[in-house]
Amino acid sequence: MIHKRSNLKPAIWDDFFRGNRLACARLITAVDNHPDWIPEILDRLIPRQKGAIRIGITGPPGVGKSTVTAALARRAVKAGHTVGILAVDPTSPFSGGAFLGDRVRMQDLGDDGRVFIRSLASREGHGGLSPSTPYAADVLDAFGLDRIFIETVGVGQAELDVLTCVDLTVLVLQPVTGDVIQALKAGILEVADLFFVNKADLPGTDALLESLKFLFEISRPREDRPVPPVMAASAREDRGLDEAYAEIERLIQALVQSGRYDEKKQARLEREIQLAIREYLWERYAAEAGAHDKLRSVVERLLRDRQSPFPYIRDMCARVRLELVKGKASGKNDD
Ligand code: GDP
Repeated sequence: MIHKRSNLKPAIWDDFFRGNRLACARLITAVDNHPDWIPEILDRLIPRQKGAIRIGITGPPGVGKSTVTAALARRAVKAGHTVGILAVDPTSPFSGGAFLGDRVRMQDLGDDGRVFIRSLASREGHGGLSPSTPYAADVLDAFGLDRIFIETVGVGQAELDVLTCVDLTVLVLQPVTGDVIQALKAGILEVADLFFVNKADLPGTDALLESLKFLFEISRPREDRPVPPVMAASAREDRGLDEAYAEIERLIQALVQSGRYDEKKQARLEREIQLAIREYLWERYAAEAGAHDKLRSVVERLLRDRQSPFPYIRDMCARVRLELVKGKASGKNDD
């Protein structure tokens, strides 16, 4: 990620750390709209983070994720937590056009100083998700919120990628045939820490619970961990939510006490650094004038002559390395 200096007003940092919600909203917009400002923003924010727990709420569209998220957030607030909600589902009533729905559902939360709700614009080519989601969560963490709910549609690889940035994943299902199969297909079973069967007021709930039980009997989602708990609830009737919230808090405690929270954080940071370096090197390479045309003609030649690509790759890597060394020697940076 090439670092560019932002044009954020210097006062924003003081405002933000004093708890100004507008400053928080501005920083989220900044990481969402200006990926090249992210390094500058994170340099400031990360030392002030307190280690919020990030909870992913995922599941097919329409199962009640927004309703469930609101219900869980309400309980988190009641338990004394400060809460952030990021909605990265383009169909979510939290986001975009259906803001009124959000208002209605979140009436008692939206104006509460302890809850910060934000939807992120969907992005082309990212399965409707914003790649800035983890950074938006970083902003909320530094803002001092300690439970961050990230709502996403769990139907594709992009959503699974986003879920690698959370500490705990709740998979929401509803008693309608096909959901379990759909979830299985997306590989979501392996990442879910809690199965939440919503709409337990509708017929078919018992059948879904049975099929989940059967599923875990024939194939344990994760060999190295206990079978994830399955909860049934009705967000509409506000039934089973206290139990589900208590279970989430219990899972969080277990995560922290077992050391898995730290392990996950470590793995996440390692992966982030790896990806950033990869991206940075590629950007360096691609920034050369005519790099793409040159690459196309190299590829044509390699295919035509049935040549191995590795001499070219070695050559390019050596050049990038030389440039980095040169940059260092001359004290140049990316600003
Ligand atoms: P999302 O797309 O997964 O975020 O789902 P929403 O939260 O927008 O809910 C989709 C629809 O399901 C809405 O009409 C909700 O009122 C409804 N819904 C949510 N929870 C329940 C529930 O527990 N029971 C029933 N019957 N409907 C529910």
